[in-house]
Formats: sequence, structure tokens, C-alpha cells
Amino acid sequence: MKLSKSFWQTYKEVPADAVISSHQLMMRAGLIHKSAAGLYSYLPMGYKSIRKVEQIVREEMDKAGCHELLMTVVTPGELWQETGRWDKMGGEMLKFKDKADRDLCISPTNEEAVTDIFRKTVKSYKDLPVTLYQINTKFRDEIRPRFGLMRGREFTMKDAYSFHLDKECLDEVYDNLFKAYEAVFNRMNLEFSAVVADGGAMADGDAKTHEFQVIADSGEDEIIYCSETGYAANIETAKTIRDIDHKSPTGESEVIDTPNMATITDVCNFLKEKEHHSIKSLIYKAISGEEENYIFVALLGDDELNELKLEKFAQADHIVAATDEELEKLGFKKGFIGPMNLPENVKLVFDNAVNVEAAYVVGANIIDKHVGNFVPKRDADSFEVFDLRLAREGDKTEDGKGTVKVKRGIEVGHIFQLGDKYTKGMGVTVLDANGKAATPLMGCYGIGITRIVAAAIEQNHDENGIIWPASIAPYNFSFVAIAKSDEYKELAEDIYNEMKSEGFDVLFDDRKAGPGFKFKDADLLGLPLQLVLGERDHKNDGLLEIRIRKTGEKIKIKREEAADKIRELLKGL
Ligand code: ATP
Ligand code: MG
Repeated sequence: MKLSKSFWQTYKEVPADAVISSHQLMMRAGLIHKSAAGLYSYLPMGYKSIRKVEQIVREEMDKAGCHELLMTVVTPGELWQETGRWDKMGGEMLKFKDKADRDLCISPTNEEAVTDIFRKTVKSYKDLPVTLYQINTKFRDEIRPRFGLMRGREFTMKDAYSFHLDKECLDEVYDNLFKAYEAVFNRMNLEFSAVVADGGAMADGDAKTHEFQVIADSGEDEIIYCSETGYAANIETAKTIRDIDHKSPTGESEVIDTPNMATITDVCNFLKEKEHHSIKSLIYKAISGEEENYIFVALLGDDELNELKLEKFAQADHIVAATDEELEKLGFKKGFIGPMNLPENVKLVFDNAVNVEAAYVVGANIIDKHVGNFVPKRDADSFEVFDLRLAREGDKTEDGKGTVKVKRGIEVGHIFQLGDKYTKGMGVTVLDANGKAATPLMGCYGIGITRIVAAAIEQNHDENGIIWPASIAPYNFSFVAIAKSDEYKELAEDIYNEMKSEGFDVLFDDRKAGPGFKFKDADLLGLPLQLVLGERDHKNDGLLEIRIRKTGEKIKIKREEAADKIRELLKGL
């Protein structure tokens, strides 16, 4: 492509709403166009990269034996009614009516639609397992669309759905697609981590789920990982253990004066206790339909609650922290709450990290007073123990063999064992080997195609612009002709044609502009290599120059060796 004939422009200004590098660079490098919040058009230069991502994903899915189809973007409400999700999906689903007053939505995901296709097509176990996938537009009316393509409202997703007769087969396909995902992100040369993910409050404990996270400081997700043991999990679900000392009781529990000391830090400083020898008390309300119950959460003083874990414990529709008013009604004194003499509708749960036979400082449920030497097993009302704390850096892995660290990631893929949730909900059966009707199990496998482009830039850029991984760069390399006279114009044209016939997709900067301008644009766009035709090099043995965008390295090379050298360099980029 000759830049003089392209539909492409770069921009100096950074739009005010672009706060992370990938969003800024995608706008400045003319890859996308914003039409409204969370709605972006893909401009020719950006769309080329998106299609390369699609193609890599497509090839790996096909290699794994999946079948590509294309479902409608608009799906009928009646399918969603069957599984009850029409009402449950909430505000993210964009619903509307057609002129005959029928309910429709723009697909945020396609479990119902694919299950409907399956039930009308597959009748026998002989056709199983089968995995169907599409690369298609999704719409989710995200509460906070942001970061450009990273969290758009309209975006492109690859979504795949597998069907099986038994869990063994589901596991096999799941592992196979796990490997296909690894192949996808390896081909894109991205630094990524496959992490154990959260299966949701109602998920079957046996159901596997993993996220594929591209490592980047600006990532929305926190990953707990251990390089010694290979453990990696989203912090939402990470289970780790604390490596700390516990204090033995020195006698009966006793009330202590703690005037005006309503924080753990104040109380522990005053009593010269370590914070993990105290208990942090939190009161939550668990709501299920009309039913409301309270949960008293008792954590080590310096730990934080993981609300998703509490949701699992509560088995309720949702949970919220109790308000000051509710605390008062329950008889709790804020800052001095303790796990004793609890009202009947309050259920007490200690986090796993609390040693129920050790001694702690806890609130006394009396203003300005705490209780020392409090031993949960001896002094608390009846209680349960559950894993509730947020994992953090320095914790030990559950097997005790390693120490964990935290890094940030961008979720680019999510694979999930669904079990029979949708097939059961939609009354799907196939005949098994004995001729009996059986409900198939499902798995689903998503990849955020457009998010990958943003994530790749987020991970690979510098102060001058993007540094594309070669496999998803819009073009193979920039050809920058900085020699001006007519004699060079022809030569440049000739080299451009030669490179095209060598099979390269070349971006030829043939614009009438100075070298500084051209290099600035080439750096901003960030193709992995720049091939430069300059007068001085040419006069010196007819040399060309190859610049490696990532390292800034410059290689002088003869014209007849350039194509091979470029091929070799691109392999490693
Ligand atoms: P998130 O937690 O980021 O909202 P999700 O759990 O809702 O993601 P899935 O429903 O598993 O995402 O969708 C599959 C993939 O689609 C995600 O892994 C992500 O890469 C991509 N994706 C999800 N929401 C968006 C969005 N709003 N914009 C761009 N890509 C998205
Ligand atoms: Mg989401």
C-alpha cells in the first residue's frame, strides 16, 4: 500500500477520554474512530490488524477441530425466556421490540442461540462431541465503557460452544481448547498467563474455568502467581495461606478499655499487639428474594474481605455491607463490633486464616471497649469457617511450597465448563448408546478479538508509539524512501514492487514529506521493521537500511539480501 493513496492519518492530540497508552496510541495512529461512548469504528489500518487476530484465532480453532458458523447478531427474546436470562441479564443486554411487538436483543453472548441450533440438528451421541464457534459482533451496555477497544459496548468476540455426553469428554475438549488458546497467544508473541478463574457463586465445584490474561501494568485484573510452583489465579478466586505466628491464650477473655480507638491500627498500637493477632469484624446483609439475613465476617485484623468468596458462602442472590442504621438496629457499636452475644438473625463465619484456638483482640460490642484473650472456639457463639480473605503478595501457596506475588493482567480469553445449565434449561436431549435420552453437557470458550489488539499495544509500546508483534501488525514493514530526486523515485518504486513480489505486505511511505515527518509516523504506527532508502547509503555500495522498531537497531544491507533478512527478522518479532 502506498501511503500517498491510503485512507490514513495520524494525530498529534490525545483525546481527553483516552487515559491508557493503548487507547491514546490507537487514536493517534488512526486505527479507530470513536462514534460514541464505547462505540468505535475500525478504520482501515486498525481493521487490518483486527483481521489478522481473527485469522490466527480461526486457524487454531479449526486445527482443534471446531466448526465455524455465524449466528444472527439479533436474537429473539423467547430463547432467553427459556433459560430465564431474559430477566436476569440486567442492564448490559440491549433489548428492543420489532414492529410486531416481538422481543429481541442484540446478542451479548450466544449460549441460548447455539443451544437452539444444536437441539434442532443433533439427535444422537454419535455426533458428539461437537464444538461450534463464530467470530462476531457483541453488544454489552457496559456500566463503564472505557479504554477504547479494551472495554467497548460493541466489540468483536470469538465465542465457541462445545457439547458432550459426559464430563470426561468435556474435560478432554476443554484441555484441547486450552492448548489452542496457548497457541493463539504464543503466535501473537504476547506475554500471557492462564489463570484459574472465578466460576460464579452458583458454579458446580467441579467445573473448570480459566482466564487468559495478557500481562500489563494497566490491566484491570489482579493475578496471584507463584513462580516456584506455577500456581496462577485471578485474585477474585485465588486461595492462598498466610505464613504467620498465632498467639496462645494466656487466660480467660477480658474486657479492656480502648477509649476512642475505633480502628484496628489504633487498638493494636495501643495494646502493642500485631494486627494479625486481632479480628476485623464486618457485617453483611445477604438477600435472596424477600429473605434477608445478616452475616458476621471475622477476618484477621490486617486482611481484606474477598466479596466474591463471601457471595459463595452466602449462597444468596447478592450481598451488601450493612448500613450504619442496620448496625445500630442489630445492637452493634461501629468500631467496637465483636463476635459474641450475636442476635439470632446473624450468622458468624471466621475466615480460614483465623486459628480458632488462638487468642485475639476483638471488639466488645461496647463503646470504647475491646476484649483481649478472645479464643473463637472457646468464647464465640456458634460459627462456621470458610475461605473469605483476599489473597495477597507474600502469602504461601496452599501446598506451602512457594510464595505468591501479584501482577496485573488484561483478560483476553475466558474458558468455562457450563455443565447442563443451558441444555437442561432448554430441554435438550440426545440419544445415548443405549437409546436413552440424555442431557448433554456444555463448555464455552470466549476470546476478545478487539480487546486483544488493545492489549497487544498496551503490552508493546514506547514513548514514540506502538511496537506491533509481527503476526498482528497491519503491514509487514514500512518502506520509507527519504531520497528525493527523481532517479530515486523510480528506484524506490522498483524496490517496493520487488518487496511485494517477495510476498510482503509493505506500507510504502511515498508521500512528499521530510524524513523526520516520515519516521515519526512510522514509529507511531509501529510496524516491526522499517526498510529505509536513503541517498547516502545508496551511494555507498547501493545499501539499504533495516531498522528494528523494538530495539532501535539499524542494519545496513545489500538490496538483494534485504528480503531474506526481513523474513528472518520478522520470525523473531
Ligand atoms: P470482563 O470481566 O472483562 O467484563 P467478561 O467476563 O464479561 O469480561 P466474557 O463474557 O467471558 O467476558 O467474554 C469473553 C471475552 O470477551 C473476554 O475474555 C474479553 O476478552 C472479551 N470482552 C468481554 N467484554 C468486553 C468488552 N466490553 N469489550 C471488549 N471485549 C470484551
Ligand atoms: Mg463483563
